[in-house]
Amino acid sequence: MNELNRNKERLALALEAAGLDLWENDLVTGEVTFKALKTLDQLGYDSSEMASTVEELLGLVHPDDQPHLQQAVQDHVDGITPQYRCEFRLRAKNGAWIWFANFGKVMDGTATAEGRRFVGVTFNIDDRKRKEHEIEQMNRLLAEKNALLENLNLQLELLASTDSLTGLTNRRKLMELGLQECKRAERFRHPLSVLMLDIDYFKSINDTWGHLVGDQVIRAVAEVCKERVRQGVDTVARFGGEEFILLLPETNMKGAYQLAEVLRESIAQREVVANAQGDHAQFTVSIGAASCDGSNIPAFEELLNRADKALYKAKQSGRNSVED
Ligand code: GH3
Ligand code: MG
Ligand code: MG
Repeated sequence: MNELNRNKERLALALEAAGLDLWENDLVTGEVTFKALKTLDQLGYDSSEMASTVEELLGLVHPDDQPHLQQAVQDHVDGITPQYRCEFRLRAKNGAWIWFANFGKVMDGTATAEGRRFVGVTFNIDDRKRKEHEIEQMNRLLAEKNALLENLNLQLELLASTDSLTGLTNRRKLMELGLQECKRAERFRHPLSVLMLDIDYFKSINDTWGHLVGDQVIRAVAEVCKERVRQGVDTVARFGGEEFILLLPETNMKGAYQLAEVLRESIAQREVVANAQGDHAQFTVSIGAASCDGSNIPAFEELLNRADKALYKAKQSGRNSVED
């Protein structure tokens, strides 16, 4: 065996070991001068009936992969890339799409003339591509599930902090917010106020019109409060059965008292349809106000106690009134 044949044998062995399939095209005639036999075999084609021209080979490339394949060849022929590299799907004889990678180089180019021999190797990357695709799918699924979970957590958080009858902040959440607002008021030396509001003679509303109307009255009071406060700043909470707390940051006693008067009047004008005959239930509230001016912020519970005492005064003074 001469040296040339030995080199051929060595090359064949190296290609075999690396799983590479050699090919060569003529860039001028578009003829395939050396067929990638293993690749054709893997695709299920008879090499004698297939891939004699570059055009024929291009016909096997998946339509979605054709633009970037042609761009990769062009970039290399134009000297933009030192080597041509591309990944694409080829159509097997049975119609399946199989992923291949392709590396190549234009040979025999000189300073004055472009080379015409385009030589390269192809190898099967279908396994890797499928795994990548599976991972992609799994990541997408995971992202979807995470978004769902985040959403559920948000809903859960909302449920855990909301009163179901009125949609207002519940007592648990109010205590959390109250603590935060006290800290903030202390830090920035800002005033903070609390209103405690209780429906007058609510027992008799229930007794006269029934519990369902009682519930509607609670909802109506909640609505009036919600409508009148600063959105995103103040908190309206249902504290107990027919008791509400309004947490008013950056608000001094004067402001709190003014708001309490507006609420008291608006609620006294509000009516709820109480039965099929069209009778209306009327109701009033008593309100206790407590404030601190930012120089001496008490614990939130202390602020609530003061508001409770003021509310007691309002009840004593005949109800439908505001006291501090
Ligand atoms: P006052 O003017 O002194 O506040 O009198 P009141 O009758 O409003 O006060 P009291 O605390 O004695 O009565 C409150 C009533 O509210 C008792 C309870 O049956 C009723 N109640 C508590 N929670 C609810 C509720 O969610 N729906 C209804 N319909 N009634 C409730
Ligand atoms: Mg009460
Ligand atoms: Mg009451």
